[in-house]
Amino acid sequence: MRFLCDAMLGGLAKWLRAAGYDAYYAREGTDVSDRTLVAKALEEGRVLLTSDGGFLERKPVRDGRVGFLKVPHLPLEDQLRLVVEQFGLVRRQSRCMECNGELDVVPRAAVAERVPPGVSGDHERFFRCQDCGRVFWHGSHWQRIDDRLGRVI
Ligand SMILES: [Zn+2]
Repeated sequence: MRFLCDAMLGGLAKWLRAAGYDAYYAREGTDVSDRTLVAKALEEGRVLLTSDGGFLERKPVRDGRVGFLKVPHLPLEDQLRLVVEQFGLVRRQSRCMECNGELDVVPRAAVAERVPPGVSGDHERFFRCQDCGRVFWHGSHWQRIDDRLGRVI
């Protein structure tokens, strides 16, 4: 299950990625017209998550070729819960919250020069994004995200 979040739902996209789902986020400054987003969702088999009911008037959405869920303005956790319950999502290996890339587990030695010395000593497992190359580890920032995610999915 893959998702496409409209420009209002960037926060939700990041959380879906953290939960392990491929979630494209239509950024401001790129072509985020309804037509473009619907075409992309159709082409890539993505479910449209949008705060804008106007998408329902688009033919591929209307005739059911593009899955669609209207996500109202709610706290992030409640938005995520809505999507989780609607589509029966389960927790998976996280993706890069920044760019949606898949993460590889990499040994400490491979990332030693990319992380602060205190961090590399404290952690065994590191993750590197296949797309943007960012390195992640399960530090306190991740624990907070993980705790909040765990209450929903
Ligand atoms: Zn990335």
